[in-house]
Amino acid sequence: KTFYEFDLIEPLQRALHSEGYHEPTPIQAASIGPLLEGRDLLGCAQTGTGKTAAFAIPILQRLDADRKTPRPKCPQVLVLSPTRELASQISASFESYGKHLKFRVTTVFGGVSQGRQVRALERGVHICVATPGRLLDLFGQGCVWMDDVETFVLDEADRMLDLGFMPDLRKIMKELPPKRHSLFFSATMPPPVKKLAEGLLTNHVEVIV
Ligand code: AMP
Repeated sequence: KTFYEFDLIEPLQRALHSEGYHEPTPIQAASIGPLLEGRDLLGCAQTGTGKTAAFAIPILQRLDADRKTPRPKCPQVLVLSPTRELASQISASFESYGKHLKFRVTTVFGGVSQGRQVRALERGVHICVATPGRLLDLFGQGCVWMDDVETFVLDEADRMLDLGFMPDLRKIMKELPPKRHSLFFSATMPPPVKKLAEGLLTNHVEVIV
C-alpha cells in the first residue's frame, strides 16, 4: 500500500512527503480508509506503530472538508491522552501533518496555570488534545463545552485505567454528543478497557497490530 491509495488531499500529501513518510505503517494502512469514511475504530496498538498519524491524517482531511469555524470554547475534535508529554506530542503531530492546512489545535494539561489554555479555548479551536483531569476542571468552570465534538479519540486507554482516570473518563464521555465519530486506542485490552470501548464505539472496525 502507498499513501496515494487513500485519495488524501494535496496539502496532506505534501506534509507526509516532507516528513519523509513514503509508505503507511500497518496500522495506518488498515485505519486511514475506514476513518476517512467516518467509521468508528478500535485500534490495538503500541506507541511507535504510527498510530498518531493513523488518526491525525483522516481527522485533518475531514476537518478540511467540513471547514466549520469553531465556536468559542467548543472544540470539534477532542483527543484524550493520559499524560502531558503524550498530549503535547499528539498536538505537535497535528501541527506537522496539518502544516499546509488552516485549523487551530490546543493542548490542555495539568501542572501549569490555566490562563493560556483558557484563552486558546475561548478563541475557538478545531482540535483540543487534553489530559482528563484538567479538561474536567475547565469543563466545571465553564471554560470548555463538549457540545460540538464530532470526533472523539481516546488514546492509550489501558494507561488511563492504570493512572486511575476511569471515573474522569466516564464523566467526560457523558458530556459528549451521542452522535459522533469515536476512535479508541489501547496497547492491551483487559476487561475494563474492553467494556469502556464497547460503551463508546458503534459498528466499529477493529485493527490489531
Ligand atoms: P507513533 O506510534 O504515532 O508515536 O509514531 C511513531 C514514530 O513513527 C513517529 O516518530 C512518527 O513520526 C513515525 N512515523 C509514523 N508514520 C510513519 C510512516 N508512515 N513512515 C515513517 N515514519 C512514520
